[in-house]
Amino acid sequence: MRPRPQPVLFAIDDDSGVVHALSDDLSRRFGGDFRIIGESSAAAGLATLRDLADDRVPVALLIVDHDMAEMPGVDFLARAHEMHPLATRVLLAERDYSVRSPVIQAMTLGQADYYITKPWMLEQDLYRIVSGFLAEWAKSHQTGFELFHVIGRLQDRGTYELRELLTRFSVPFAFHAAYDRRGRRLLASRGLDASRLPVMIRHDGYTMVQPTPAQVVAAVGGTTSSDVDECDLVVIGAGPAGLAAAVYAASEGLQTVVLEETVSGGQAGNSPMIRNYPGFPQGISGHELTRQACEQAWMFGAHMVFAQPTVGLECRDGEHLVRLADGQRVAARAVIIAPGIAWRRLGVPRLEALVGSGVFYGAAGSELRAMQGHEVFVVGAGNSAGQTTLHLARYARRVMMLVRGDSLERSMSDYLTREIKATANITVRLHTEVTEGHGSSHLEALTLRDRQDGRTEQVSTVALFVLIGGEPRTRWLPDTVQRRHGYILTGRDVVRAGSHPSRWPLDRAPLPLETSIPGVFAAGDARYRSIKRVASAIGEGATAVRLVHEYLAGGLPDETPPAEDDEDHAEGE
Ligand SMILES: Cc1cc2nc3c(=O)[nH]c(=O)nc-3n(C[C@H](O)[C@H](O)[C@H](O)COP(=O)(O)OP(=O)(O)OC[C@H]3O[C@@H](n4cnc5c(N)ncnc54)[C@H](O)[C@@H]3O)c2cc1C
Repeated sequence: MRPRPQPVLFAIDDDSGVVHALSDDLSRRFGGDFRIIGESSAAAGLATLRDLADDRVPVALLIVDHDMAEMPGVDFLARAHEMHPLATRVLLAERDYSVRSPVIQAMTLGQADYYITKPWMLEQDLYRIVSGFLAEWAKSHQTGFELFHVIGRLQDRGTYELRELLTRFSVPFAFHAAYDRRGRRLLASRGLDASRLPVMIRHDGYTMVQPTPAQVVAAVGGTTSSDVDECDLVVIGAGPAGLAAAVYAASEGLQTVVLEETVSGGQAGNSPMIRNYPGFPQGISGHELTRQACEQAWMFGAHMVFAQPTVGLECRDGEHLVRLADGQRVAARAVIIAPGIAWRRLGVPRLEALVGSGVFYGAAGSELRAMQGHEVFVVGAGNSAGQTTLHLARYARRVMMLVRGDSLERSMSDYLTREIKATANITVRLHTEVTEGHGSSHLEALTLRDRQDGRTEQVSTVALFVLIGGEPRTRWLPDTVQRRHGYILTGRDVVRAGSHPSRWPLDRAPLPLETSIPGVFAAGDARYRSIKRVASAIGEGATAVRLVHEYLAGGLPDETPPAEDDEDHAEGE
């Protein structure tokens, strides 16, 4: 058998001095495991990459200077990536912290996965960041032990959801289409056929047909029922808000039970790349961030229960009873509700795979400037879609609004529709839906369908903003928890007067994140007036725990300023 060729770290820059320095630095640290190839001309570089592809030599990293004379770096990256689709794309650019830096646009549009600035001052810094890129590459591209075989149909929703669940639970698995040879053979080995899919086969032969989330979680060793009947705190939802609450509560000595409907991570766990979380300039996978937080909560002693929706909450005489879907009840001294929002999704698998790489759910913020000079699309017809369109029109060459219905006026405020009509570079396309996305590493085109005549058309673009609304996941809550449009009211928003049973019952005012039930707090997206960002959800989860302490202690004394004669703070001595 031919030995597996060493994977390649490929670097290219017009300046041969930079290529030599980079190749030398990379060789010293990574030369044992990788072959380092440096080039200083685009034509020669593409020819080398073609040869490597022909010889089936894997390329792990493509490090490409942004400013090459023969070809822009992002174009070189795109062509190189076509030949080596599994390679991680790194843009090399001059250190420039201004908004004009090419790195900003390339990263936002998903034309590069990471960046390195030059000159890099310290070898150790280069090694640290390149090691990070390689760890990500190895995780997604090197095969290892597979705990499960999943056999299903690629386009089948059940199969998609099962693969999603396993990925979010970090379970290694191999997928086989039911109609390919391996898939058919695996089904036959268990006496099954393709009439009921998906099928999941564990390494020890244990087989499940159309498994429920609870069966999947149990099969990988997760807990699906609570063996605790009484505790200090129940946290409902294990997204960023619930996980942060669990980490702080458990680490501060509260006996904590976390109840999660599926697996941990929430919306953030679905985000391939979160670029605006403080401290991660290259971005961080939402899955990785929440997976680590979940593990941290567990390490501090939080009791994590998965695949177990909370279906009810009762409060009597200061005791809070949380009801689980399996009929069990957990009594808690305090509760933090963090169930998030069910965002409506387009449901196009290719577009879901490109979230963060040209496909954006929610209002454009940090992405705005990167749209300079491009034609971009917005899906939605509500006020947030209108506001996003107007924002984008200040930067993009042209903004196309895609609306399924026959008018904007029906769903959008009058002042917005008038402004949209008066803006020259905005076009509104009615009766139109997005049915497909195109592009392997970043969005390149969309297929649009006219809902009146059924005709389809493919349009090129670099960005699609989806604003089709969502609903807070709070329908299961009792009426005693005050809500507005489904969002949970807290603190000063809680209505205190009136005769309704949801009226605040105490003389003291509710604490800042406290709901209309004393001792029940809300955090994250489902809270009325929340910010709807990962960092703010985490901040609210942590803050809610502090308020739980305050509630349990019957109020904390005011923070006392340092005494005047405190020698650490004395001035002028
Ligand atoms: C596609 C997309 C991309 C995004 N990208 C970014 C980004 O780049 N940067 C950023 O800052 N923000 C981003 N956001 C927003 C961010 O993900 C949310 O603000 C954040 O996840 C909110 O956290 P949360 O804990 O409040 O809710 P969620 O993340 O929604 O978590 C709620 C959890 O509660 C569980 N749950 C719901 N109901 C129940 C119940 N009855 N019982 C038990 N459990 C329940 C859910 O299963 C879920 O796990 C993005 C959102 C989306 C949809």
